[in-house]
Amino acid sequence: MGSQTRRQIAFALGLGTALLLAYLLVYTLVQLKNTEVPEIYLQRIALILTALALPLFTTWWRFKWLGVNLIASLFLVPLVLFVVSITKIPVFLWVFLAYGFIMFMLYRTEQYFETQIAMIGIEQEKYEDETNNLGIAFKAKGEGISTFFEKYSTYYNLRKLAEELTVSLSWAELAQKAVDRAMDFIPRGDFAKVTLAHGEERKLPVVAKRRLRPVGSWSGKQGDLFDFWCIKNRKRLIVMDAQEDFRFALSDAEKKDNVRSLIIAPLFHEGRVAGTIAIHATRPSVFSHDDLRLLDAIATLASSAISNAILYEKTEELAIKDSLTGLFVRRYFFERLKEEHRRALLHQKNLSFLMCDLDHFKECNDRFGHQGGDLMLIQFAEILRQCLKGSLLARYGGEEFAILLPESTKAEAAKIAEQIRKAVEKSPFNIRREQVQMTVSIGVASLPDDTLDLENLVRKADEALYRAKKGGRNRVCVATS
Ligand code: GH3
Ligand code: MG
Ligand code: MG
Repeated sequence: MGSQTRRQIAFALGLGTALLLAYLLVYTLVQLKNTEVPEIYLQRIALILTALALPLFTTWWRFKWLGVNLIASLFLVPLVLFVVSITKIPVFLWVFLAYGFIMFMLYRTEQYFETQIAMIGIEQEKYEDETNNLGIAFKAKGEGISTFFEKYSTYYNLRKLAEELTVSLSWAELAQKAVDRAMDFIPRGDFAKVTLAHGEERKLPVVAKRRLRPVGSWSGKQGDLFDFWCIKNRKRLIVMDAQEDFRFALSDAEKKDNVRSLIIAPLFHEGRVAGTIAIHATRPSVFSHDDLRLLDAIATLASSAISNAILYEKTEELAIKDSLTGLFVRRYFFERLKEEHRRALLHQKNLSFLMCDLDHFKECNDRFGHQGGDLMLIQFAEILRQCLKGSLLARYGGEEFAILLPESTKAEAAKIAEQIRKAVEKSPFNIRREQVQMTVSIGVASLPDDTLDLENLVRKADEALYRAKKGGRNRVCVATS
């Protein structure tokens, strides 16, 4: 049964009841009027009924429901007529009318206030909406401001890093600086490293690292498979969970390292990827793509600084090393010679000087040409390197070589010279698939045995060499005091 039908039934019942009650009231009042009741009592009854009718009338206004409305009307009409007929005072009629008028006015006032309240409600809603909108706008602005500050601080940090990277010309220092700053900017990571393969070697050594928290059993000496991926693909990489990522099949040892998430960016040198900068974490999904972009920016700055430092190192090496043999050049050798001489005098240590000259080298040049002669020089330098690990070797002039032996006595130096001579004598030199025999003459001079003066030391070694040549070559001569 719908609510409409129920309302209709309730209304019909209410109306029926009201009609019945009205009939009973009128009937009772007429009966009462016809009986012998003193007039004063009738007047009191009329007044009491009037008084009772008033709240009923009031409820009509309050409920504003048609049923109540009708009931009230049905009661009021006979009641008013009865009261007037009993009291014979028509002013009651006016009282009702005045009462009705007051109620009507109250009703209108209430309606007015209700409209006002509704309007205020609408206004309030409008203001609430506006407050909400302002709140949203404020939040968005706040977010905008914090994004701005974040961007500003990133920019500021990168600028600071760029400045810091100009201070040093050592690529190892620069790599350390880059790794330190990367860790400062992205502190969510546990561990950061720089790998760099700038020399001849095929390995990818870790040249700088920084650890904020302990990371598994990682030894951290060589690049890992992520570094090699980055180098091969020439692009940055983010891994949310290394143990779930299908691109990487981790070995058991690598799983023990416990690297779960990481970001990594390539370092470029002379147009190729020479290394990587990476940040690792032992928890998955630690880094965002913003972190990766920031690391890439750091890598770009570090790349150019490290690249410059490598080039500088090469230039410096070129300046002090002979391009053909890789031994020190004469100028640099003399600088070191002066240092070692000062040290030997200060600490009263021995210092020996060897002067070597290949025998009949001109013939070799004549036979194999200048390039063939160069190959001989290269091979001779290699023999020297092998006989004298860690000593100061220099190409003194064309096919003349100088050797400095700090803390070696004259006897020790003569022994070493003899070893060199024998090694050269024994080694066949390969020139254009031909094996050539070569010999060397060596002059030896020592400090303090032969002299305390540096120039004398060199001159005495030279004289000894001259004597070796004179004596028939392929021999060692020591200086005579
Ligand atoms: P010895 O020392 O035994 O007296 O005879 P030598 O034939 O070695 O004579 P000398 O020392 O006078 O000759 C040196 C030669 O080395 C002369 C020059 O043509 C050659 N020479 C100098 N520098 C180079 C170089 O860089 N490459 C080549 N291939 N030859 C050079
Ligand atoms: Mg010679
Ligand atoms: Mg010579």
